[in-house]
Amino acid sequence: MRFHIVTIFPDFFTGPFGYGVVSRAQAAGLLEIHIHDLRNWTYDRHRTVDDRPFGGGEGMLLKPEPLFEAVEAILPERTARKKTVLLSAQGARFTQPMAREFAQLEDLLLICGRYEGVDERVAEHLADYEVSIGDFVLSGGELAAAMLVDAVARLLPGVLGDERSSRNESFGEDNEGILDCPQYTRPAEFRGWKVPEVLLGGNHEEIKRWRRAASREKTQRLRPDLTGGRN
Ligand code: SAH
Repeated sequence: MRFHIVTIFPDFFTGPFGYGVVSRAQAAGLLEIHIHDLRNWTYDRHRTVDDRPFGGGEGMLLKPEPLFEAVEAILPERTARKKTVLLSAQGARFTQPMAREFAQLEDLLLICGRYEGVDERVAEHLADYEVSIGDFVLSGGELAAAMLVDAVARLLPGVLGDERSSRNESFGEDNEGILDCPQYTRPAEFRGWKVPEVLLGGNHEEIKRWRRAASREKTQRLRPDLTGGRN
């Protein structure tokens, strides 16, 4: 799969994509991440990407022309498997099912907003999806894009050593879409807190039952919204 990121801060991604799973997956050729500097599609001396909002108000907005030109140059044809996402606080909330849908694509282009946001015609006529990573406001789309790429990358075939590990975890397909169960490692007793006895036993049926119940209990306690309740 190929990711393309359009940003005014191309150097931002050296950190997020330089470590762990995403870095190894790139080295192994399982995915490509292409970072594009939006200012390459400006033609004035100051390489201007922003302008004041019509109607007044604070701050600046990313102008439409460089964004449209950038996207049309990077992904000249958009098909069912080549999609464009605008990162936006006003978008639909990014979730694990959405990550699984994106993991089916050949190309995914991510547009990172800055300042007070982006001219609305980008959301209306250029982006296939407007996506938010949570109900809070960031100062730019770059962190959001890095999170989205990370979450999608680990679902691609071959990226995690064991494909089951992504199906079994929180929000996973084999986990009823709820939270992962609590996990423990050694020592079996730490500062007087003991690991649940059943996990030390080796009775796989019992362990499976305990894990399912513990998943449900934790989900009920911390994320009742995932099982139809209220948060
Ligand atoms: N004025 C806008 C916020 C602009 S923040 C509003 O009130 O909705 C600047 C940029 O940061 C946005 O264009 C977007 O690309 C990014 N951003 C901010 N919050 C985000 C979020 N929750 N999810 C994804 N991107 C976000």
